[in-house]
Amino acid sequence: MITRFAPSPTGYLHWGHARAAFEAFNAARRESGQCLLRIEDIDHTRCRPHFTDAIYQDLTWLGFHWPKPVRLQSQHINAYKDILMPLKIQGLIYPCHKTRAEVAADNARRDLAHYVKDLNEPYPKHTAGAAWRLSIAACRDHLGEGFDNLNYIEQDKDGGLKTCTANPAQFGDVILARKDIGVSYHIAVTHDDYLQGITHVIRGEDLKAQTDIHVLLQKLLGWPVPIYHHHGLVMGADGKKLAKAHHDPSLKAARESGMTPEQIWASVLTP
Ligand code: GLU
Repeated sequence: MITRFAPSPTGYLHWGHARAAFEAFNAARRESGQCLLRIEDIDHTRCRPHFTDAIYQDLTWLGFHWPKPVRLQSQHINAYKDILMPLKIQGLIYPCHKTRAEVAADNARRDLAHYVKDLNEPYPKHTAGAAWRLSIAACRDHLGEGFDNLNYIEQDKDGGLKTCTANPAQFGDVILARKDIGVSYHIAVTHDDYLQGITHVIRGEDLKAQTDIHVLLQKLLGWPVPIYHHHGLVMGADGKKLAKAHHDPSLKAARESGMTPEQIWASVLTP
């Protein structure tokens, strides 16, 4: 088993991240496998190096070890851009000049046929400064029946395996290359899971919906589909996801206040 913990340094890790790290590192330990640490910092508008440093400090404090060197996605932007090329050549992605708000409205509307027709501008004429979106209609044509059988295996918390079928069409034509950074989370995460030989993707259930898009990309690019396990989230006192809860304690604050990792585990690992 090779798995990974892949935080984005857009802020300090919070207690929920301790649970997520535990799930991945502990699964690897149990299976005598390996858990890699990957820093998902492609978004230079939001990621900061001091948050990356705090990730190393927090995880070390919690007692985790990982192979070095750590992969920093920001150092591989060109590799992610290269992945877009075969998708462009096959006509599976298309340039789009809409604003974020218009994109959100389109996704809410999910009027795909109309949308694709509207936006399929002549390529390469209008690509400067455009985002690139995955055409669900083109993917459907390209994969034929395979589009309706985008299967992957989800492992439950007791180790049971279940076959799931991804339904990426429900998200509309997602962006694979953002206008501002030229790449996207979807491309970087699937590329690296492939490159790093990840056999098990272990992450919070808030990311489960992304799996539908990731499995589609893996099929389009001919990459193996890892086993997925989406674990429950640590909830705040008000029942909201901790990251969104009113009080959002960082691990940095906890360690600097003299708390012990055991105190963190006592709150985040209780069923
Ligand atoms: N970097 C993503 C995050 O911090 C998680 C990546 C993944 O596991 O897919 O939310």
